[in-house]
Amino acid sequence: MKEGLDVLYALQLKDDQLKDIEAIIKEIPLKIKALEDERDSRSDVIEKAKKKLQHNGEERKKLEREITVIKDKIAKYKEQMKKVTTNKEYQGFSNEIKFEEANIIGVEEKIIEKMCESDEIMGMIRAAEGEFKKIADAYNQQIQDMLANLDYHKNKLTEETQSKKELRARVDPKLLKAYDNLFVKKAGKVVSYVQTDFCGVCNIKIRPQVLSEMILSSDLLICESCGRILFKKIVDEVEE
Ligand SMILES: [Zn+2]
Repeated sequence: MKEGLDVLYALQLKDDQLKDIEAIIKEIPLKIKALEDERDSRSDVIEKAKKKLQHNGEERKKLEREITVIKDKIAKYKEQMKKVTTNKEYQGFSNEIKFEEANIIGVEEKIIEKMCESDEIMGMIRAAEGEFKKIADAYNQQIQDMLANLDYHKNKLTEETQSKKELRARVDPKLLKAYDNLFVKKAGKVVSYVQTDFCGVCNIKIRPQVLSEMILSSDLLICESCGRILFKKIVDEVEE
């Protein structure tokens, strides 16, 4: 029985290992998704600047249309000027034209401002794109590494599942049945490794009588507190 427990404990360790590998396999795709989201969010700066540039272009067109409207107005005044008969009327149109021409200069100044702003935005976009490329490269490298890690663990899972099969074949069928039953009830923790005189799972102190039975008797011993199969390496025996 004691020899059988050795293999059973090895099976417990194998199941623990498989559980860890499965957790990693489940976790990696989530980490990759988080990295992708983070990477994409970094390009927001570029998107915002591009929208600003587009808005700037629209504003400029609006100002250019304003100038066309003013120029049409001036042309009409000039037509009407030809038909005036009094000096007062002539002066009136002349003043209107001067006023509108001053308006044109004001609008043109605004257009120049918009053009300068557009140059600034374009410079910003170029810088942000260069910066983003560097950031994205770093993120993509991390993602590649994680994918490689995922592959590694998937292979490991196949290997260790095979190794578990081999271990199970070595366990006494009755013991294996008990293990499988407890595996469900005890959330995958069946064998408790006793290092000194404490249960390795629930940490309760094991009675001296039970401890000595573990060494001397070939019976299967169960932790009185958590109900798991107790396993102790009998090193002293060998030394004796
Ligand atoms: Zn226990």
